[in-house]
Amino acid sequence: MATAAQQLPGEQSTEQRIRDVKEATRGVTEQYPREYLLKCIAEGRFPEDCWRALGEFGLLGLSIPEEHGGSGGGVLEMTALMEGLAEAGIPMLFLIVTGLARVPIVKHGTLDQIQRFVQPTVSGEKKLCFAITEPNAGTNSFAMTTLATRDAEGYVLSGQKVFISGADEADWILVVARTTKVSDVEHRSEGMSLFVVDAKDPNIRMQALNIQAEAPEKQFLVFFDEVRVPAENLVGEEGRGLAGMFDSLNAERLLVAAMSLGTGDYALKKAVDYANTRAPFGKPIGSYQALQHRMALAKAELEAARLMTYSAAASFDRGESAGGQANMAKLLASRAGTQAVEAALQTHGGYAFDRDYDVVTLWPLVRLMEIAPINNEMLLNYVGQHVLGLPKSY
Ligand SMILES: Cc1cc2nc3c(=O)[nH]c(=O)nc-3n(C[C@H](O)[C@H](O)[C@H](O)COP(=O)(O)OP(=O)(O)OC[C@H]3O[C@@H](n4cnc5c(N)ncnc54)[C@H](O)[C@@H]3O)c2cc1C
Repeated sequence: MATAAQQLPGEQSTEQRIRDVKEATRGVTEQYPREYLLKCIAEGRFPEDCWRALGEFGLLGLSIPEEHGGSGGGVLEMTALMEGLAEAGIPMLFLIVTGLARVPIVKHGTLDQIQRFVQPTVSGEKKLCFAITEPNAGTNSFAMTTLATRDAEGYVLSGQKVFISGADEADWILVVARTTKVSDVEHRSEGMSLFVVDAKDPNIRMQALNIQAEAPEKQFLVFFDEVRVPAENLVGEEGRGLAGMFDSLNAERLLVAAMSLGTGDYALKKAVDYANTRAPFGKPIGSYQALQHRMALAKAELEAARLMTYSAAASFDRGESAGGQANMAKLLASRAGTQAVEAALQTHGGYAFDRDYDVVTLWPLVRLMEIAPINNEMLLNYVGQHVLGLPKSY
């Protein structure tokens, strides 16, 4: 965390910024508790009321500058929002998607693009999702083949994206596409561009995937069949989309870390409550060290990952290069979150698998954070290569 020495006069401390956001978040989660989210999941609907309430409380405007209708603040505030939601049992995948998609538009978009595509997301009235993953490319995004071809009126977009969260709810999709085929660029990282695409375009077809994530957002295979995209929807420079994406990546890592931390804490609280009362041999099971130490270790690991997450968020907001820290924070937080849920599962014994106890239901989403939006192996690759200076391994 930022130390007092790093704090400028009149500037709020990191701790205060986190506390303020968490307090505002509680205003929403008290209105829309875990039971509400579970009902949305069971009914297969997006938690629209909760999303709108986040907008009304100004929370969806966090990290968007006030001159663009946002609430200001930075990645640290978004991180605190995500953690606050998850620790109340409301992990919001769509917040990661929106958070990720808005960053390059705010940073590289025109004023008109910010007003059209970002400003209406602040109230929750409009939604933005994000599409980079392709069926054949997977983690290797450079191998994407979705192509946007320039013509006199704009671009024509064709290809496929997979696992696109909330595509059915979104008004726009921020699509990463090639504007130059991989065979025609010197380096595979070149020739990609960012486009805001109207999600309701008749030349877009969506096929729902059967994903078991215990989250209200659904995932889709999205087909783009000669979709016309106006030239003014190109974000940043043609062919330089990767630079725009990199701006989002550290922020995204920290939102994922925050979701894992909050879910881990939520699970541990449930485990402690259960362990203090369940007593098949007469003594509460929480007095047995096999369980107590497992929970204690999970707590210690969550706290360590939390320090790193907020330290990375504060560095990012100060404009420092936070790549190494953000990658390590996501790596550690996602593992700590899973371990905390694992501890809760063990503590609940057989009842962990009774859906009504809502413990096993925490597992798919927290475990997913070790794989998506970026798998932990890629983060280890980053640390190995860029932090330690080892040769590239893949
Ligand atoms: C619920 C859900 C929501 C998602 N939402 C979105 C979204 O909104 N938008 C979007 O664009 N994408 C989204 N994704 C896609 C997600 O980002 C990808 O699933 C993820 O990047 C991994 O790609 P893949 O599944 O093709 O795995 P693959 O690339 O096939 O990798 C499989 C495994 O191989 C290993 N591996 C791969 N490459 C390496 C390497 N270089 N070094 C070491 N090990 C490696 C890892 O263990 C990895 O888990 C979502 C996925 C899910 C499941």
